[in-house]
Amino acid sequence: MKKQYYFDHAATTPVDDRVVEAMLPYFHAAFANPSGSYTFAEDIQDAVNDARKQAAQFIHASESEIYFTSGGTESDNWALRGVMLANGQKGKHLVTSAIEHHAILNTCHFLEEHGYQVSYLPVRPNGFVSPSELKKAIRDDTVLVSIMFANNEIGTIEPIRELAMVAHAKGAFFHTDAVQAFGHLPIHVNELGIDLLSASAHKFYGPKGVGILYKRDSVSIDPLIFGGSQEKNLRAGTSHVTGIVGLGAAVRCCAADLSRRMHRETALRNHMIRRLTREIPNVKINGDLYRRLPNNISASFGGVEAESLLILLDACGISVSTGSACSAHSDAPSHVLKAIGLSDREARSTIRFTIGDDTTQEDTDYVVEQVKESVKKLRMYSPFYEKRG
Ligand SMILES: *Cc1c(COP(=O)(O)O)cnc(C)c1O
Repeated sequence: MKKQYYFDHAATTPVDDRVVEAMLPYFHAAFANPSGSYTFAEDIQDAVNDARKQAAQFIHASESEIYFTSGGTESDNWALRGVMLANGQKGKHLVTSAIEHHAILNTCHFLEEHGYQVSYLPVRPNGFVSPSELKKAIRDDTVLVSIMFANNEIGTIEPIRELAMVAHAKGAFFHTDAVQAFGHLPIHVNELGIDLLSASAHKFYGPKGVGILYKRDSVSIDPLIFGGSQEKNLRAGTSHVTGIVGLGAAVRCCAADLSRRMHRETALRNHMIRRLTREIPNVKINGDLYRRLPNNISASFGGVEAESLLILLDACGISVSTGSACSAHSDAPSHVLKAIGLSDREARSTIRFTIGDDTTQEDTDYVVEQVKESVKKLRMYSPFYEKRG
């Protein structure tokens, strides 16, 4: 196979070799259903609980507060529906932001169809949700505030502590979709005031199809999935043991590699941003330049159709995305780029590059060169682009 330049780590990451190694025994030798009452089953339950401990430690929570799910989407659905349903005595109002992932937004739309009210906070041009906007939107009957930790398209890291404080002042719970942040940034749920948090293993070098919901013990929640008594009667279904073990191993690797990876990715990201903005005319980086994920570059190339750029780059073995993977197959311009004030045309000229452990500086240089050439080519044929020089 031709060398792949994978610059879409926000969509998913390859599974770490150490994670595959940890998972293997649980497919065959250690296959028992952990709900069984014999020693064989108890050994598997121990492995599941060890993964729970790893996840809890990463965010400074306790083991009893970690629930395994099928991924980020389920955790987001569960947090919103479960908390709204279980806390109806306080009210039926929820606050979120305009730049959330569709796992949050479409759950909100469902809740609105079923008698709940949702306020969608605007964001500043750099992508920040403002605590003072939250203060204006929050009400006595607000049950839950859900704001993402870091945005999957523009990489912006939100002011979580300040937002959680505003929520708590009105007696509302605070949930954060931390799918892009967990494993990549330090997270301390108590210092930040987070009551619920969603994460997904495949975004941090673990397997697909497994995630966690962290829920502070004092928060009441209704189940989303009904059946057996797994996960303290709150999330039924036979535990996805191989996935859970993989998630635990991935968390352990991320914890060990955290600061090294953050420094490395930040340096590569800044190198790439510098080259893109200096060597290509009319490029705009979206989202705050400093409070952003170490691996994220969102760039708008004036006068270029991102779809065409993506095709030219793909032909050179480069994988990038326009907006998020979840909206890649829809025609609507990204709701996130619209929310930070981009026009439809600017939004449609935007490419997201997300780097990872396997990215080298040579890779970033190759990608910059290919982007440079492709942008030049596309602008030559663009009816919209004012030719210079
Ligand atoms: C990927 C992603 C999700 C969905 O997670 P899955 O595990 O793929 O279901 C939710 N929120 C954000 C911010 C994401 O990036």
